[in-house]
Amino acid sequence: MNVQQMYERLKGIVGNVVPDGEIRYKAEIAVEINRLKKERNAVILGHNYMEPVLYHSVSDYVGDSLELSRKAAATDKDVIVFCGVKFMAETAKILNPSKTVLLPSDAGCSLAASITAADVRALKERFPGVPVVTYVNTYADVKAESDICCTSGNAVAVVNSLGSQTVIFLPDEFLAGNVARETGKHIIYPTLSLPASKSVDLDYQMIGWKGRCEVHEKYTVEDIRAIREQYPDVLILAHPECSPDVVAASDYSGSTMAMIKYVENTGAPQYLLLTECSMGDNIAAAHPEKNMLRLCSVRCPHMNQITMENTLASLRENIIEIHVPEEIRVKAARAVERMIAIG
Ligand code: SF4
Repeated sequence: MNVQQMYERLKGIVGNVVPDGEIRYKAEIAVEINRLKKERNAVILGHNYMEPVLYHSVSDYVGDSLELSRKAAATDKDVIVFCGVKFMAETAKILNPSKTVLLPSDAGCSLAASITAADVRALKERFPGVPVVTYVNTYADVKAESDICCTSGNAVAVVNSLGSQTVIFLPDEFLAGNVARETGKHIIYPTLSLPASKSVDLDYQMIGWKGRCEVHEKYTVEDIRAIREQYPDVLILAHPECSPDVVAASDYSGSTMAMIKYVENTGAPQYLLLTECSMGDNIAAAHPEKNMLRLCSVRCPHMNQITMENTLASLRENIIEIHVPEEIRVKAARAVERMIAIG
């Protein structure tokens, strides 16, 4: 596809959400990325939170963490370029270690940064024998300390699969709260700086952690009230990383893939997605017949680091190559593969 063809294709898909000059400029970069991708036998995985042109022009697969982990595990390409954040690229390397995995920018995550492997070890010492469930939004060494991983889409199924009265669920405070609400479990958030009591209060079934997604924590019940007053027939979808109060006040809650399917399969007059803004743009571009309210200004600063320019540079200069020490990788792979087996 030449630059003019790419421009026309993009104009047809994202013309309603991206200015013309930007499409023209990025069409050139997209053609070069696609050429290099072929030359290097690479695959590009684009998270749902990628900006609309990158999402629709160079990504071979798009999806949420779980979906893309599966693609990373199955690919026979030599190079995996992960257009997402570091913990996702690490998961690709964990599942497919013989491949070169590239992350175009050193993009982090407030949730992944909220907990360390030493924190998990301390929790395991304090609550011996209690299985550890870790959200995939964590770094490899934290996954390695866990029994099983989960995503926002399968967290309840993972917790139920353990058949354990009590679980340690890390590190997202709100996702844990939402899982506790759905499973009827009582949750506590222990403070590790306090000395562990010999007679620990056993009136709990979930042990959480105070990590938060800096994007989803911003939405409030007050936002929902204000939107409903203005648009009484709006359907509001909230990501499970939003607070339990926000989720309860919404019409639907699910992972990014579940939200996309929900919008595709319903016929509401208008929708509001309480999640990262680019995802709303990407759904609006793919479904111009759906009326998406465009009030969103919450962009993840980490996802936002991935651009067309640094994706091109990543393929040209092999930056940033992801490495995971083998001892950690093997343990982390066990936790991730156990999750994938559940679905
Ligand atoms: S949206 Fe939230 S959870 Fe996702 S990468 Fe950004 S900070 Fe992390």
